[in-house]
Amino acid sequence: EDSNLYISMKLKAAAEVCPTIIGYVTVLHAITEVNENSSIHGLIVQLPLDSINKIDTEKVTNAVAPEKDVDGLTSINAGKLSRGDLGECFIPCTPNGCMELIRQTGVTVAGKRAVVIGRSKIVGAPMHDLLLWNHATVTTCHSKTADLPEEVGKADILVVGIGKAEMVKGEWIKKGAVVIDCGINHVPDESKASGKRVVGDVHFDSAKEHASFITPVPGGVGPMTVAMLMANTVLSAKRFLDSHQPGKWNIS
Ligand code: NAP
Repeated sequence: EDSNLYISMKLKAAAEVCPTIIGYVTVLHAITEVNENSSIHGLIVQLPLDSINKIDTEKVTNAVAPEKDVDGLTSINAGKLSRGDLGECFIPCTPNGCMELIRQTGVTVAGKRAVVIGRSKIVGAPMHDLLLWNHATVTTCHSKTADLPEEVGKADILVVGIGKAEMVKGEWIKKGAVVIDCGINHVPDESKASGKRVVGDVHFDSAKEHASFITPVPGGVGPMTVAMLMANTVLSAKRFLDSHQPGKWNIS
C-alpha cells in the first residue's frame, strides 16, 4: 500500500512536468501491436486524446481492429449497429448499459415511444439505433431541437446524454416514463470537502415524481458502462475462441 501511494504520487508529478508529446504514428504503432497480438481480445482508446500534437481521434479510433473494438466505436461496428446487425457487432458500452437497465425494469420496449437527447457517437447515436432495433419508435433530440420539453413529454422511455447539469426538468416528463440519465456533471457544493458534487442531466428530485423508473447519478449508468465493457471483452474472447478452436472451449 505504501509503495502504491508513492507510485501514484510519482505518476502525478511526472504527468505535471512532462508534456504529452505522443504523436499519431506512435499511437497507431501501439494499436497495431495489440491488433496483431492474438492473446488480447479487447482494446479501447480512452478519449479524449490529450497531446500537444494534434491527433485525429477518428483515425485513431478506426485503427482498432473491429473484432477487438469492445467500445464499439469503429465505423464498422457503428455501421453494423445502425443497420440492425446487433449480433455481429460490439455495442458501445454506455448505450448497452442503458438498454440493460431498461430491460431490468420489465417494461416492454417494442412499440413504445422513445426519446434520446444527444446524438454523440458514444452515447446518443448508438442509443437511438439500439432502441430502434429493439422496436421502439425513436426521436433523437439535439442542440437544434426546437421544443425540447414538448419532445420529452412524448417519451415512454427517455434516455438523456447531454452534459448539462439537471437540464431536464421533472415537469417535462410524461407520467410513468422510464428515465435513464447518462449525464456526469460537476456542480459547486460547499457542504462537500471537495467543494463539488456530481449530478446528472436530469433534475432527479422533480423527475422522480413523474417517472416510473429513474436512474440516479452517481450510481446508475456509470457502473453499468464498466460492466458492459467487461461483458463485451468476454464476448470478444468467446468469439475468437469459437472461430479459432471450435468446440474446445465453453466460456459463459
Ligand atoms: P457530447 O459529445 O458533448 O454530446 C452532447 C449532445 O447533447 C450533443 O448531441 C448535443 O447536440 C446535445 N446537446 C447539447 N446541448 C443541448 C441542448 N441544450 N438541448 C438538447 N441537446 C443538447 O457528450 P457525450 O459524450 O454524448 O456525453 C453526454 C453526457 O454523458 C456527458 O455528461 C458525459 O459525461 C456523459 N457520459 C457518461 C458516460 C457514463 O459512463 N455514464 C459515458 C459517456 C458519457 P449537438 O449534436 O447538436 O451538438
